[in-house]
Amino acid sequence: MTSQKPRSPSTPHRPSQGNRDFRNRAKHGGKSPDRQEKSEQKNISHSAAQPLTGNAAAQPCIALKAGREKSLLRRHPWVFSGAIERVDGAPVGGDTLPVRDAAGNFLAWAAYNPDSQITARVWSWDEGASIDAAFFRRKVAAALAARDALGMRRDSSGLRLIHAESDGLPGLVVDQYGDTLVMQIGSAGAERWRDTIADLLQELCNPVCIYERSDSDSRGLEGLEPRNGVLRGALPESVEVVEHGLRFKVDVAAGQKTGFYLDQRDNRALTETLAKNRDVLNCFCYTGGFSLYALRGGAKSVLSIDASGDALRIAAENLTANGLDESRAEWQEADVFQALRKLRDQGRSFDFIILDPPKFAPTAAFAEKAARGYKDINLLAFKLLRPGGLLATYSCSGGIGEDLFQKIVAGAALDAGVDAQIVHHLHASADHPVLLSFPEGAYLKGLVLRVS
Ligand code: SAH
Repeated sequence: MTSQKPRSPSTPHRPSQGNRDFRNRAKHGGKSPDRQEKSEQKNISHSAAQPLTGNAAAQPCIALKAGREKSLLRRHPWVFSGAIERVDGAPVGGDTLPVRDAAGNFLAWAAYNPDSQITARVWSWDEGASIDAAFFRRKVAAALAARDALGMRRDSSGLRLIHAESDGLPGLVVDQYGDTLVMQIGSAGAERWRDTIADLLQELCNPVCIYERSDSDSRGLEGLEPRNGVLRGALPESVEVVEHGLRFKVDVAAGQKTGFYLDQRDNRALTETLAKNRDVLNCFCYTGGFSLYALRGGAKSVLSIDASGDALRIAAENLTANGLDESRAEWQEADVFQALRKLRDQGRSFDFIILDPPKFAPTAAFAEKAARGYKDINLLAFKLLRPGGLLATYSCSGGIGEDLFQKIVAGAALDAGVDAQIVHHLHASADHPVLLSFPEGAYLKGLVLRVS
């Protein structure tokens, strides 16, 4: 594919008339049960996007304002609406356009979305590239090959096969649960190529089902309607993942995210090694991931709390399916913020507390509110820990960086009056790689702390 430099003078700007019905619909409250991790939309406001329309008769092209090419030159794959001088031609959402600097130099091929603050997402930096089925075949095959090359299938039948921007496929997440694939589309560009990608996955992975879970709140920020249903094949009656020998039922159609939190796989395994003879409190337990590992690791008791009754029902099924000692497990359906206060008031204490809350800050704009939420639960957890106890605390908020998270936790320890040392710095498992030029990909961070 070749392209021409923009030939036209810019015409008066007008705001996009795109579909805004779904924008601003996302729930960003501190207690949202929905944790989305793929394209953390950092540093953007949630007001309506206002892409700028240039010469409709010209060759389609996105022309940047002078000086706004810097982040693309650093290979960051997003173009924000504020960086755009004008959009030539009459492109519609999902079209592939060349992005050019103010002097007309080619920067990248990108998928256009006039309804998003992230108005373009880069497919390729190569001017000679064609964004077509063969391009997607190469990208998908490369993502699969990388996982094979690094031996990622060893420990689990569940694997993230495609991790969006970090695998060079902005807005596309594909998770594998045994022979079922779940695809999640969060950008207009990936939406355009949905059928091509599904065909490729069918051919390259031969699953019994490809299920689409394109119903995350972040789709609203892209002006895309939610979609949930079978794309290829038929959904098996029961989908399961076997991780480090533990079986977990995955509710592909109605569970959170694509059904399971694959990103915590390694951290769950670490939990098993830390749990022996400890009274464990697992907050935000979902379908029991950390709880089951703790039980298998010899925990004396595990109290698991989550606000979702559906998740807890699956958790109890998982416990039984794995033949673990049910007498050591207690499940509680409750709001963790309230439950921690109640436990404190009851004078309860624990040797090991796990905090894995949902995303409190989807973007940096929510960082302050989120910081209060993190501080609150971490402070309460420190107060419930016995001397020598462990706290495994996580944040999956793209809007909260690793340094800030550590500072929040340090503030919580100070206010709780405990001394603590970091014994582990944790991140998402390797099937959630982070493109170096896309730090937003490093959304999950965790610390294991030991109080003295
Ligand atoms: N650790 C889990 C994943 C946790 S996801 C695993 O490894 O599988 C976050 C969980 O927090 C979800 O299950 C959601 O239902 C729950 N949740 C969200 N807000 C909550 C609240 N205020 N109180 C209790 N649980 C909450």
